[in-house]
Formats: sequence, C-alpha cells, structure tokens
Amino acid sequence: MERKSKSLETRMIHGTYDRSRHYGSLTPPMYQTSTFSFESAEQGEARFVGNESGYIYSRLGNPTVDTLEKKIADLEGGEEGIAFSSGMAAVSAVLLALVKSGDHILVSEGVYGCTFGLLKMMKEKFNVDYDLIRMESEEAILSKIKPNTKALYIETPINPTMKLVDIEMVVNMGKQHNLPVVVDNTFCSPYLQQPLAIGADIVLHSATKYIGGHGDVIAGLVVGKSEFIQEVRMTTQKDIGGVLAPFDAWLLLRGLKTLAIRMDRHCENTEKLFEKLQEHPKVKNIVYPGDPSFHQYDLAKKQMKHFGGLISFEIEGTKEMAQKLMNELTMIQVAVSLGDAETLIQHPATMTHAVVPEEEREKMGITDQLLRLSVGLECPDDIWEDLEQAINKI
Ligand SMILES: *Cc1c(COP(=O)(O)O)cnc(C)c1O
Repeated sequence: MERKSKSLETRMIHGTYDRSRHYGSLTPPMYQTSTFSFESAEQGEARFVGNESGYIYSRLGNPTVDTLEKKIADLEGGEEGIAFSSGMAAVSAVLLALVKSGDHILVSEGVYGCTFGLLKMMKEKFNVDYDLIRMESEEAILSKIKPNTKALYIETPINPTMKLVDIEMVVNMGKQHNLPVVVDNTFCSPYLQQPLAIGADIVLHSATKYIGGHGDVIAGLVVGKSEFIQEVRMTTQKDIGGVLAPFDAWLLLRGLKTLAIRMDRHCENTEKLFEKLQEHPKVKNIVYPGDPSFHQYDLAKKQMKHFGGLISFEIEGTKEMAQKLMNELTMIQVAVSLGDAETLIQHPATMTHAVVPEEEREKMGITDQLLRLSVGLECPDDIWEDLEQAINKI
C-alpha cells in the first residue's frame, strides 16, 4: 500500500524543500539579503499590490526563512508556519494578534517567565486581562471562561516541575466555547508532541531549544491555519518586526535534520539518569514524566511520544549545598536554556524563577533544594559520573 506521506523523521531531513528551484543545492542556500530587486517598476507595483507573488524585502519574506516556515508547518501538521527572531517574539506576536483592549486570556499556571511578564505588561498597559489557573479539569477551566475570553493558552510540560496539561481536554473546552487553543510546544518539539493533531489551533516554539538544538541561535516558530498566520504576518510580525535572520533560519534547517535522533538520545539519556538518581541516597523528589509513579505518567504516555530530556530533583540539604553541587561539576554546564548537546544544570529558585515570590515558589514546588537538568547528548555514563561525584561532595 502506498503511504500518503513520509514519516516525520524523513520529513525532518527532506521536508518541503524544492531543490530544483535552487540549482539542485543539497542543503537550502542562505539568502543573506535585505531586499530584492525588481525587473521593472511595473513588477515592483505588481508585487506590492499582490498581483504577482515574489519577494520584496526580507522583513516581509525571505527564501531561506520561507523554506524553514514550510518545513515546520509540515512537521507540526499545520497549514502554514511563520518564523521569529526569538521565542518571545513568537509568543508576543501570537497573543497581540488574538486580543484587543478589554479582552481576556485564560492561561495555564507555570508558563515561561517572560510569557508571564508579557501578560502582566499587556494587562497594565493595554487593559488585556488574564487568569493563570491550574488547568486540571474541565470545571476548573469552565469556571474562569468569561464573555470576553479570547484564547486558551497552555504550556506542557512546564518548567521545572514538569506538570502537564491535558491538551485534549483543553481542546474540547476550546471547541465548546469557540476559543482558539494555543500550545507552547517548546519542551517537546514536534517529534514528541503534536498539539495540532490533537485539535489545538496554534502551536509555537522557542526554536532556541530543541529545534535549533546546538545552543547557537535564538529563534521562534509558530504554526496554525493560513488565515491566522497571514494575519500575524501582515500585522504583529510586519509592523512590530521580530523577523528571523536568514542565517538563523539556515541554522534551524540544519538543526531540524537531526531532531529525531537527538530527541531519541535526549530521552534515553534522561531515562538512564532517572534510574541512577533514584538510587542515590542524597537525592529526593525527582520530577520526571517518565517516572511510573509520577502523578501524570498516564497523561504523559497519552500525549507524548517519549518523556523528554528534562528532569528535576531535590537534594537533601540547603540552598548553599545545591549551589556547591553545581560548582563541583566538571563537565555539566551551569546555564539556563535547554535542548542543547551539552548537559545543562540550573537552580530555578535563584535563576529562572528568582522573580517569583518565595511563597508562590514553595507552592509550585520550587524549593531551594531543587535543581533542573537539561540532559544533553553526551555518553550517559559520563553525565552520571560527573553528577554523582558532585552530589557526593555535598
Ligand atoms: C525559552 C522559552 C521561551 C522563550 O524563547 P526565547 O527563544 O528565549 O525567546 C518560551 N517558552 C518556553 C517554554 C521556553 O522554554
């Protein structure tokens, strides 16, 4: 039987790129240009009024960026994609396109810190209201949907407590109330989780993380229905201007080719590390969706292909001991971000979540003893050896 389309792994490599239009160049060329010459004044006019398709100016479209946008749309299973200069440029362009002054957004608790900062700013400056809630049941969501609610915005899993949101449940609520569902899919990448296939309307990424995968680019991607993406393209992207540079698009196209094998390795390494951490007497309260006793293990299995490359744990001891552990590491790097080849460790209470008031932090489970690892692609034995020797020194 003939298959309709190639598998995701293969499409990450070949995808929608048409070599015949680029001199057969195996890899997509980088069009490092700000503008495009017209063959005549009339052609310029035709491009501007939309009677002829073609490039005009790289803030409005660029062939390298375009190749990336088509590829991510294909991988997420959506109609159209759009690329941004950062994950936050993507988040802000999407939210600003969805709401106007007086509207309300319902957001899952624990979203990325700068997304929270943006919501606060939109509320203070533009009178766009929001509620942050634990989206654990239909009732919980229903009780916060208001007549002026314009979108449901979720992130799953969240950092650093790995709490999940049931995408299918939120999608059902969105459909019942005619509200678009936006999913920040950064932690999973399209390889591990496909929100659009579950029925979400818009999926977005900090491509800085797993999609880039090499710690060398800051970028954002969004996929959704053509109508919505076109609106974003002509308003909150064109006029605010957070466009992706051709070189950065080129780096992401390169990163995407190995996404599947990298994700497999991130997931395998994390699983191995989980087993080791579990046996260590100084380690407690490991949070990892792949832990069969994790309270949302079944949900993780339902909506994720594997359990991801992030794991958090607490150590017996104090904040100073957590910091000492980090300082004793010789290979693992002390850094925020995630999804890189290098294993990274961070201390959420004093780094990514330092701005969250202590009381709130404790409620979320972000204690002074909590550490978060973004497990890299190194040999898992080497990762554990480094971590174990550092734990043993505290
Ligand atoms: C990093 C991150 C962002 C922001 O992306 P940038 O590329 O840093 O602007 C948004 N959401 C999540 C879940 C992230 O991890």
